[in-house]
Amino acid sequence: MRMAALRVAIVGAGPSGIYAAEALSSLPDLVVDVDIFDALPVPFGLVRYGVAPDHTSIRGVRDTLDKTLNNEGVRFFGNVRVGVDISLNELSDDYDAVLLTYGASSDQHLGVPGEEHKGSIPATELVSWYCGNPDAQRTLIEDSIRGVSSVVVIGVGNVAVDVARILVKAPGALDETDMPQHVLDALSNTDITDVHIVGRRGPAQASFTTKELRELGELSGVEVLVDPDDLDMDAISLEAIASNKVAARNVEVLREWSSRAPQNLPRRLHFHFFRRPLELIGDNAVEGVVLERTEFGEDGQLRGTGSTEEIAAQLVVRSVGYRGVPIVGIELDERSGTIPNNAGRVTREGMVVPGIYVAGWIKRGPSGIIGTNKKCAVATVDALLADYADGSLPARAGAGSIVSLLEEHEIDFSTTQSWRNVDIAERELGQSRGRERTTIHERSDLLVVGRNG
Ligand code: NAP
Repeated sequence: MRMAALRVAIVGAGPSGIYAAEALSSLPDLVVDVDIFDALPVPFGLVRYGVAPDHTSIRGVRDTLDKTLNNEGVRFFGNVRVGVDISLNELSDDYDAVLLTYGASSDQHLGVPGEEHKGSIPATELVSWYCGNPDAQRTLIEDSIRGVSSVVVIGVGNVAVDVARILVKAPGALDETDMPQHVLDALSNTDITDVHIVGRRGPAQASFTTKELRELGELSGVEVLVDPDDLDMDAISLEAIASNKVAARNVEVLREWSSRAPQNLPRRLHFHFFRRPLELIGDNAVEGVVLERTEFGEDGQLRGTGSTEEIAAQLVVRSVGYRGVPIVGIELDERSGTIPNNAGRVTREGMVVPGIYVAGWIKRGPSGIIGTNKKCAVATVDALLADYADGSLPARAGAGSIVSLLEEHEIDFSTTQSWRNVDIAERELGQSRGRERTTIHERSDLLVVGRNG
């Protein structure tokens, strides 16, 4: 019989959580039982609900993560909201250690007038919707994109690039993806002709990566427009491209686009740098964005020049970063939206909270690529194992029977087998439409299919 030396609960079945489960369940000389909890009925977090569906090779990481769910001692419990359906204390009682890897699901705000107008949406919501997240606000997004011809995307990170690409792609260009059918239908029926991407700093300070940027220049029927004046390099930008290869390559790509002759294609992607949003205008619904020109002052700080301009748009997507949310019983650093920690050990008022750990975006903020979370999760697992080895994990008080506890709380939880059933059903649904997979988006459908196959 399998006798685990250690029982670990992981809260969040995204890449960080599953990388941590992989590290814990493949130790050569220690038997560890790992239970992974997620508020969603299916695993893989941002790999399923954040990576753009047309980026199939990055989404392919799912297959690697999926293998971990087969590891001996690893179980998945979906549709369980830790902090709501079951408390963190109940988990702490039942496990030797709890590892929080639930990411950063909320969004940052611009803090400008008009931000709450109809037609102003966070990128987080748009991404959730097009990936088929059951919690996405479907009506809000579908109402917001209907009848829109011009879009402003605020922010110049990879999420802004994803959002701009998805919105500007030709009708039908996404049909091969696993997007739910209602998403494909809504995107095919938009009248979007112009997407404006706005960066408050210069092209040398943009945080998108070159591969993602370059892809925008390869979209069929889409012309990329860059104002050559935005590429005049000030001293700070010259320093940035001299010291940062990605910045230099990005500027090179933008420079090449700025020198292209007009092509008169049906849809356009416009880049605007050194402009920050001052106001979203319109009577309740967005009609445009007022931007102020910016520059670097002698102190190196960005400042407004007082010169303003307006872009007409019926949709504004705020892509200015994700933000972590608190979990009952644990302090959140309001400034960074992360959980204070010391090398992955959660701290409260500077003191380590024994047995509680953190990894991924909720540990270090929303940055890096999927693989960054592997290193991050392994570092936290190392801290946890060191604490186990020196006897500093708290004594376990509970009976170690999480299934009974979930049943007692009448939680309709899903399991690894439920995911296997959903996986098969999604592949069959996709194949019936000539695609590899179609995402099932309704929570109730995911639960029913998961239960019954
Ligand atoms: P990000 O890279 O941090 O970009 C946020 C953008 O918002 C920056 O351009 C930032 O400008 C801007 N911003 C912040 N506050 C603003 C304000 N008040 N007004 C105007 N602009 C503002 O974040 P992200 O795009 O959400 O991406 C999150 C992480 O996921 C990143 O690590 C990203 O690389 C990763 N990701 C990767 C991929 C991929 O590999 N294909 C795809 C999607 C996401 P400043 O720089 O001036 O602050």
